[in-house]
Amino acid sequence: MDEDDELAARRRAMVDLQIDARGIRDPALLAAMREVPRHEFVAASLRREAYDDTPLPIEERQTISQPYIVALMLEAARIGPRDRVLEVGAGSGYASAVASRLAAHVDAIERHPRLVELARERLARLGFANVDVHGGDGSTGWAAGAPYDAIVVAAAGPRVPDALREQLAPGGRLVMPVGGEHGAQRLVRLVRESDGRFRETDLGGVMFVPLVGAQGWSAGSNDT
Ligand code: SAM
Repeated sequence: MDEDDELAARRRAMVDLQIDARGIRDPALLAAMREVPRHEFVAASLRREAYDDTPLPIEERQTISQPYIVALMLEAARIGPRDRVLEVGAGSGYASAVASRLAAHVDAIERHPRLVELARERLARLGFANVDVHGGDGSTGWAAGAPYDAIVVAAAGPRVPDALREQLAPGGRLVMPVGGEHGAQRLVRLVRESDGRFRETDLGGVMFVPLVGAQGWSAGSNDT
């Protein structure tokens, strides 16, 4: 078996054993995860680990999230084919690539310029044309593209930023880890009701790198 076939077989097994078997049901999401080559979003030395059940290190001391967590967040965001999506914390660009297969358009924001550059290069090379990667502080969202039908935040903040609530369309869903900078965090989903109120659901315990920015944590020695 050549390397491409072997990686494709690993990707199918990842979806069957880590995603489908754990209860992710959205057929479009399962299809997108079968299709998006996660091994293209990590360093060459990590390609063979790309379909393991774990987060992996990327540049700038950041991480590409565990595949199951990406699936859990995207399913919870209930992304449909006409939706406009904002991802805060683009990192490698992998989750944006998966989201782009479900949505009409994805804006992704990343604070590390080097990661922005790499994510843009990968997404363009692989043909993910409906994703724009922006550099900057996503804790204040991306007002130019608002309102969003779904907002997915891939870094943990002390609370859901007001700016992100404001950029959610009526009926929109926001999924984000909230809690300690380096410890116990809960994955929460907010739904903006048509009367403007927010309904919150706790989706369980998670562990994410910190959201560093004006409406997140301040940058410091543990700025990972
Ligand atoms: N979803 C990403 C992927 O598929 O590779 C993984 C994201 S990683 C867990 C979290 C990312 O959030 C890091 O790349 C980090 O630099 C970024 N980040 C943290 N605070 C941010 C902020 N205020 N604005 C934009 N990006 C931020």
